Amino acid sequence: MFLEIGFLLLFASFGLSDPTLVVIGAGASGIAAATRLLQHGITNITILEANDQIGGRIHSVSLGGRYVDTGAEWCHGEKGNVVYDLVKDLGILQGTPPFYLEIYHSKLKLLNPDFSHALNDIFFELLVESMRSKESVSVGELLIAKYEQVIDQWKDDPSNYKLAQQAIVLLEACVIGFNGGFSWFDLAADVDFVISEGDQNLHWNGLGFKTILNVLMEKSPPINDKILFKKEVRQIIWDSKEAVVQCTDNSSYSADHVIMTVSLGVLKHQHTNLFVPKLPVNKLLAIEQLGIAAVQKIFLYYDRRWWNDSYTGNFFLWDPNDVKNGASWLTAVSVLVPVVHNPNVLQVWIIGDLVPEVEQCSDEVFINGIMYLLDYFGVVDSKIVTRPDAIARQVKNWYTNPYFRGAFSYQTPRTRVGQNSDEAILSEPLGNNPQKPNLLFAGEATSPDHYGTVHGAIDTGFREADRILKMYK
Ligand SMILES: Cc1cc2nc3c(=O)[nH]c(=O)nc-3n(C[C@H](O)[C@H](O)[C@H](O)COP(=O)(O)OP(=O)(O)OC[C@H]3O[C@@H](n4cnc5c(N)ncnc54)[C@H](O)[C@@H]3O)c2cc1C
Repeated sequence: MFLEIGFLLLFASFGLSDPTLVVIGAGASGIAAATRLLQHGITNITILEANDQIGGRIHSVSLGGRYVDTGAEWCHGEKGNVVYDLVKDLGILQGTPPFYLEIYHSKLKLLNPDFSHALNDIFFELLVESMRSKESVSVGELLIAKYEQVIDQWKDDPSNYKLAQQAIVLLEACVIGFNGGFSWFDLAADVDFVISEGDQNLHWNGLGFKTILNVLMEKSPPINDKILFKKEVRQIIWDSKEAVVQCTDNSSYSADHVIMTVSLGVLKHQHTNLFVPKLPVNKLLAIEQLGIAAVQKIFLYYDRRWWNDSYTGNFFLWDPNDVKNGASWLTAVSVLVPVVHNPNVLQVWIIGDLVPEVEQCSDEVFINGIMYLLDYFGVVDSKIVTRPDAIARQVKNWYTNPYFRGAFSYQTPRTRVGQNSDEAILSEPLGNNPQKPNLLFAGEATSPDHYGTVHGAIDTGFREADRILKMYK
């Protein structure tokens, strides 16, 4: 309280007026923007959040006595990464040791480990290569050609060559799992994303990615009383002197500035109704040309493990004849992997265009499916395997949930890249007064270089807070 008054006095002593602010969304970018403004003495802030908790696509769930993350999980890199910078001195982030995923085949069961490991290496190398590419094609087009060249090494070994050809679906699963698309033909190869150097898979050692929200909030005067939950914004009228924000519960808020942080998926679904007047064509094109789809991660907790320490996880590779009558959602279960910081938990990755279907499955149906897969692929003897004792997953999320409509954004082959990229266009503020625009845009999809990540989201929250602070200098 005293701290808050201190900041207010400081603000007043510089002759600054205290503008009114509405932040829409209490995800990483919204919390970053609000905390930055509070730190600098702007206190007249209301955060409207449609859900009943903060974090948005950061969602840490307690399982087996530690936290697992059904949304953002890893801090990707150390250099030029605001998440890493904020926590590096706290000794929380831990590296993930390198590991191989064995390949189990629906007809042949466990494949030769040397062959599987060679394929793992190829997947990793091609994934990295696709991130460095400057070719104006889709990642699918780029990697199909490259993969065909590399697997030529098995040309004289017909059975492994055939398996390597089948395994291209696993390469696609790695690529789209990492980028969030439903198909690698929807991912541009030449993109603006800047990889932050350093370890790409730093985990939170069982404390959950939610830690970053606490770190942000500890750095500012109290924010909790500024957040209103279950406040779904229906409309923003942004071209008058003040912006007016209307919620579905008929409440309404006027503000000098509104910072909009909803996901690209929400913008794609809602922009026609959300904005009065409608957004300019350039922004509409950006919303249309950027991509967002989804991945799903599901965590299974076992009181007693059925696997031992040497098990580092596996891919499921379906024989084409086993799926020739149409793909079941089971074929979207691509990877099963033990969680490093939570010894009795397995993580299941669901990847591809069947994700929305898996989001609709009940826990019971999902667990039955996993039990079936473990047995069918011969991962574990059906006499040994037990049912999980608990499950952590987002039912009807991230794709189906109207407040997300996708996991994280990416650049498609249609996206404008470079200095005037679609992300840059999406980030431009709007309003009658160019010196003091009413409507500002933050959120990961407005980050020109770190879109799709939490560090990108936080960068954009800080960027828009700084934009407002500059207006009142
Ligand atoms: C499965 C998954 C895995 C991921 N893995 C990683 C990872 O390992 N590392 C990483 O860095 N990033 C990862 N990400 C991406 C990362 O989570 C996001 O980029 C980041 O959290 C986005 O933050 P944001 O503030 O931009 O958006 P959000 O977190 O989506 O925040 C927007 C907020 O707006 C609210 N909202 C929506 N509509 C309305 C409305 N009409 N009215 C009011 N409020 C509304 C939402 O409820 C939400 O709280 C992952 C995401 C997912 C889903």
